Amino acid sequence: MATACVSIWDAVQNNIVKRIGAKRHNLWIKRTTLKSVDDGIALVGVPNLFIQAWLEKKFKEDLQRSFQEVVGKDLAVKFVVDGTLFRQMRESQDKEGVTSLISRPKSPPVAEGCALNPRYTFKRFVVGKPNRFAYEMAFNLAQSKARDLNPLYIYGSVGLGKTHLLHAFVSEYKRRHPDEAVTYVTCEHFVNQFVAALQKGRTDDFRSVYRNTDVLVVDDIHWLSGKKASQQEFLHTFNALSSRDRIIVAAGDSYPRNITGTADALLDRLASGITARIDPPDYATRLGIVHARALELKRLLPEEVARLLAERFTNNVRELEGGLLKVLAFHSLLGKPLNEQTAAEILRTDRASTAGRTTIETIVEAVALHYGLTSAEITSGRKTRSLCLPRHVAMYLARMGTRHSLKEIGAQFGGRSHASVLHASRAIEQKAGVDSALAETLRALQGTLGIVAATNAPKEAAKLV
Ligand code: ADP
Ligand code: MG
Repeated sequence: MATACVSIWDAVQNNIVKRIGAKRHNLWIKRTTLKSVDDGIALVGVPNLFIQAWLEKKFKEDLQRSFQEVVGKDLAVKFVVDGTLFRQMRESQDKEGVTSLISRPKSPPVAEGCALNPRYTFKRFVVGKPNRFAYEMAFNLAQSKARDLNPLYIYGSVGLGKTHLLHAFVSEYKRRHPDEAVTYVTCEHFVNQFVAALQKGRTDDFRSVYRNTDVLVVDDIHWLSGKKASQQEFLHTFNALSSRDRIIVAAGDSYPRNITGTADALLDRLASGITARIDPPDYATRLGIVHARALELKRLLPEEVARLLAERFTNNVRELEGGLLKVLAFHSLLGKPLNEQTAAEILRTDRASTAGRTTIETIVEAVALHYGLTSAEITSGRKTRSLCLPRHVAMYLARMGTRHSLKEIGAQFGGRSHASVLHASRAIEQKAGVDSALAETLRALQGTLGIVAATNAPKEAAKLV
């Protein structure tokens, strides 16, 4: 601190003690410093973000008044985290071996701009086979802080609940360990803050903020792709935290090794703990999500509409929720009845979003549902008569609605040959020509699966290659 600043600051401190009392002064102001008085701004250095936020909220006006009395003019008071103060505070705490109110704030700092969605809780997360592992890892880590679950990396494509799980983790962790500092940021926010710190020459402050946290949770880590300096910084943060056994949870769109444009060292670190994949939800999970969401919205949803939604939106929970909201909105705003037929009509324009993305799995699920069977029965090798027709229907639809070759389709139906898929598929085509009930079934299934038209089916020759 420059000499002038020292004397001003001493005088301001003496002045403010009278306003706020020695106890509060001791707790909040004593460990701060006056860095500069320039351009009508008094810049006060503070040890960490938490103290900064607290001073901003509670003592800024008192400080401004004290400055006015000491200096004789109005100064705007601004705060900035100071790396030296941060280190001093840590050292003195280590020596004391105690946890002071300041070092372990009741409500620790969460980097600004990254608020938590209160709806994203573990309770509201519908657990099914494709997301169970990720859910359990996040849930157990929040409960137990088990070292062997740390670091945790969750990955999967867009709209499958990664952000939901991260927010749920943070909320649950804070509830369980209210005296720890938990920082949740999107990777974009981390990068932006880092770039701003670089520009202002304040990377020390940036570092102290991130390395001071007990738990760091970073979403959309693939955002680091191609950003070398930010990757390096994140890697250092990661290393600094993990060397002190701090908890790190991250989410990204692919397995670490498959994130492009990112340094191997960082990818290795991400893969060094638990990696948990979230797969697209299966039919049961989708149905569960639709029901849970409708219940949350206090809306009564007929089973047929719930099924239609679960059959139609197969790859993305966000789209599934969007579909539900759309149907509900048409019902409540435009008075459309809430049944399968109108829901199908309302969603007709959404077909584009699912067309071409129908999977064999969803086809099998829809066919199984239609015939009251299980998916496993449809794909089994069993030759029971009652299973033959549904299985042939599923193969036919797989040929119509997916880009898989006859061989690939056969492989998913108990390892059948391409010839049997072709045979099954032709048999269904012929039968539908004379059996109107079957033709109707095919139309309905094509509708729910978003499979366009039979005439669009690729030529056998192309599929055989
Ligand atoms: P991601 O981060 O993987 O792109 P989100 O976490 O943003 O996906 O999820 C998209 C939407 O789907 C959110 O509204 C989320 O609450 C919801 N969602 C995803 N998976 C589930 C689930 N298993 N149970 C309930 N809601 C879910
Ligand atoms: Mg997300």
